[in-house]
Amino acid sequence: MDKLSGIAVSPGVAIAEAVVLDAEELRIPRRIVPPEEVATEIERLDRGIADSIAGLESQRTSVRNSLGANAADVFNWHIGVLNDAGQRREIAELIKERFYSAAYATSTVMRKQQRRFLSMTDPLLAERIRDVQDIERRLLRNLLGASGEDMAHLTREIILVAHDLSTSQTALLPETKVAGVALDVGGPTSHTAILLRSWGHPAVVGLNEFTGMVSGGDTVIVDAVHHVVIANPDEEVLEQYRVRQASYVRLTDELGSLRDLPAVTQDDVTIQLMANIEYPREAEASVRKGADGVGLYRTEFLFLREVEPDEDEQYAAYAAAIRGAGGRPVTIRTFDLGADKVTQKKSLEQERNPMLGVRSIRFSLQHLGMFKIQLRAILRASPEGGGVRLMFPLISSLIELRQAKMTLRDAMEDLEEEGITFCPDIEVGMMMETPAAATQCRQFAREVSFVSIGTNDLIQYMLAADRGNERVSRYYSAAHPAVLRTIRDIIRTCGREGVQCSLCGEMAGEPMYTLLLIGLGLRTFSMAPNNIPEIKKLIRSCTAAKAERVARRALTFDTDQQVVNYLRLETLKLLPVDLI
Ligand code: PEP
Ligand code: MG
Repeated sequence: MDKLSGIAVSPGVAIAEAVVLDAEELRIPRRIVPPEEVATEIERLDRGIADSIAGLESQRTSVRNSLGANAADVFNWHIGVLNDAGQRREIAELIKERFYSAAYATSTVMRKQQRRFLSMTDPLLAERIRDVQDIERRLLRNLLGASGEDMAHLTREIILVAHDLSTSQTALLPETKVAGVALDVGGPTSHTAILLRSWGHPAVVGLNEFTGMVSGGDTVIVDAVHHVVIANPDEEVLEQYRVRQASYVRLTDELGSLRDLPAVTQDDVTIQLMANIEYPREAEASVRKGADGVGLYRTEFLFLREVEPDEDEQYAAYAAAIRGAGGRPVTIRTFDLGADKVTQKKSLEQERNPMLGVRSIRFSLQHLGMFKIQLRAILRASPEGGGVRLMFPLISSLIELRQAKMTLRDAMEDLEEEGITFCPDIEVGMMMETPAAATQCRQFAREVSFVSIGTNDLIQYMLAADRGNERVSRYYSAAHPAVLRTIRDIIRTCGREGVQCSLCGEMAGEPMYTLLLIGLGLRTFSMAPNNIPEIKKLIRSCTAAKAERVARRALTFDTDQQVVNYLRLETLKLLPVDLI
């Protein structure tokens, strides 16, 4: 049994067989072959080993010719592993005795080897795990060839184990067959994490070496309540987790009954609970979860594909989201492309530091044609429902905001000339997600109708910690005293300027921060729809007066750890332990 801790990004408990998706997206299913195919599988194995060795030998020759004998030596170890008769025998035995397919037997044996390297204390030997992974991939490529099975053909529920998933891969996950996800890399608020959360199944990321511990077909538990994953649990542990899974489902079902009740504290303060959505169909689904509207529609997900959507397709998507919200307010954010959300156009220029590069509103202002098409589509959709609002992301200077608003005016004038209807008084707001904007909050508040605090980015830029990098996740903390003070100041300033302020970063959906945020004066939260019932339960169990005391106390601590300990303790008094 192997257990690892990571970062839970979508709550719940899932138990199923693993499918391991390697870096080349080869899926290695647990496949049992009929006895009459054993000989063919052994032949396939031998051919695969021979082809892999031939490939390495030819690489060794070309490296020897260009870089010399020493450089070419690196291939000797790989060739030696493939030539190892003991290893070949071990794989062949699994095929003969357990009727495993050649690919599955190979993956099982090579992952066992990786585990051995992983447990070595000598760092040089531990590093060898990468070589073994490399050899495994090479051999599997040769065994599976072009027929490497894809995720679209799953026949039963599985836990997807992978080193990483891009946002586009995550967007394509089959909704019904993937019960849970475990990833080696990733931070708490990466866009992959955000998609996993809205997709709604348990997911843990930032596990470092989990792919090296699991073979396709192993039983895996994803406990995304307690941030752990377990491979090959024994019967006792399995039973324990089945009970936990059932209890989690029961608790969340109970929360579902709050759907039609308002999010009101016991001393009568009403909180608006809005949904963050990535796709239009989620608008209706979020209303079913009890959302008061859509607080953040991340339109860039429409663009994560080969061909950009044209104006009509965008219009149709925005109109569908607005209709889905059934007359409730919908805040449409203009596309936040770049960084970890790349378009075809964007991918032509590789940036060294994309999170600090041509991202978001910068990208929009450098691609005015594309930006204007989107603004026209949003404006055309604006008469569709009750209260469509438009929001610009990642604003860091007033000039940028003014340029964006000017482009919007241009788009309005064009539509007017063309006789196309739209809401001319559409509310325009901005994300407050750069330290610069937060510092100049008062000036910004005078030029917009509303702001939404994007803590996912605000934290990463304030604390210099990449939101998608698990290696710096311990530096990335919403509870950092500097972050808390900044949020407090933004809420306060917006209040003084009479500008509506919401918070749409992942922090809004984390129960641990609910009391704090209410206490700081926040009255509009926007979060993944699945988080709404739990947050509503908390709101209905507390008083705003108590929340204010909690916020005051939280602001007295010097370190994020003290803040976390304190907030967790206060939250535990109101929510069952199995939910946080
Ligand atoms: C944020 O940064 O907090 C936010 C909500 O925007 P995104 O996660 O899409 O960057
Ligand atoms: Mg952001």
